Amino acid sequence: MAGKVYLVGAGPGDPELLTLKALRVLRTADVVLHDELVGPQILSLVPFSAQIHNVGKRCGRKSTTQAEINALLVNYGLLDLQVVRLKGGDPLIFGRGGEEIEALRKANLDVEVIPGVTAALGAAAATQIPLTHRRLSSSLIFITNHHSSSASTSDWPGSISPTATVVVYMPGYAYAATARQLVAAGLKASTRCAIISQATRSEEKIYITTIEELRSAPRLPAPTLLIVGEVVRLAQHPSLHDQVSTRSEEFLPLVAQSESVAQSQGNMATSERPE
Ligand code: SAH
Repeated sequence: MAGKVYLVGAGPGDPELLTLKALRVLRTADVVLHDELVGPQILSLVPFSAQIHNVGKRCGRKSTTQAEINALLVNYGLLDLQVVRLKGGDPLIFGRGGEEIEALRKANLDVEVIPGVTAALGAAAATQIPLTHRRLSSSLIFITNHHSSSASTSDWPGSISPTATVVVYMPGYAYAATARQLVAAGLKASTRCAIISQATRSEEKIYITTIEELRSAPRLPAPTLLIVGEVVRLAQHPSLHDQVSTRSEEFLPLVAQSESVAQSQGNMATSERPE
């Protein structure tokens, strides 16, 4: 009898962001195939009896190709085992979950997807950036900058509304090229950007800049995410204080502005319906 394959989202890092369903399935797994982004705290929830395979694509190890991952999933699935494909964030956002589902369906295997908190939501929560906002942002775009993925920067939308929030997954460090792409899509060079590194983990950091200044941003440790849009003015994070104290001339006005936005919002809250 064939088993069942679960595509499970592990969330952005903090184990407390796992869903109860993900936890239940992990605790009863026979085989777990996980990505590089899944940390040891989450893997420690898997029973000792389970086989654990790191099929991640980093750390200088020989990568497991997507075709090999699909074959592993199908082969384990055909045995009478509970197979968990554990992915960082959500399995269906820039996670090649679609290809894995296709391979499993072709083999007539039963698949269940358990969603996870995607990195954009983890990073937004950690830095208190509202991804949508009644006055500042009415749409949200998730995009990837990774050239080897199916979407290259040339697949970016030709035009991005100034009232959109853009979240760039796998932004890499070619910041000058990313900035050019954002401006070519119609965003003002003064639009705020936040680079969020290792969101929801203890090493989490945020760096705030503008599209214009993005090219001189530091290379924060991976994984990083870039959030672009006026909502970035509302960011709050302890690591912002370091940025303000080391680059005070440039960033004190930004802090002052974000306070004034916060104040005007406070006024607005009494007269407008909540979001
Ligand atoms: N399926 C995942 C995304 C996989 S693509 C999800 O839904 O989140 C991998 C990219 O996700 C990384 O290059 C980075 O841009 C982003 N990412 C994942 N975890 C992150 C974290 N804790 N902090 C910042 N970015 C993260």
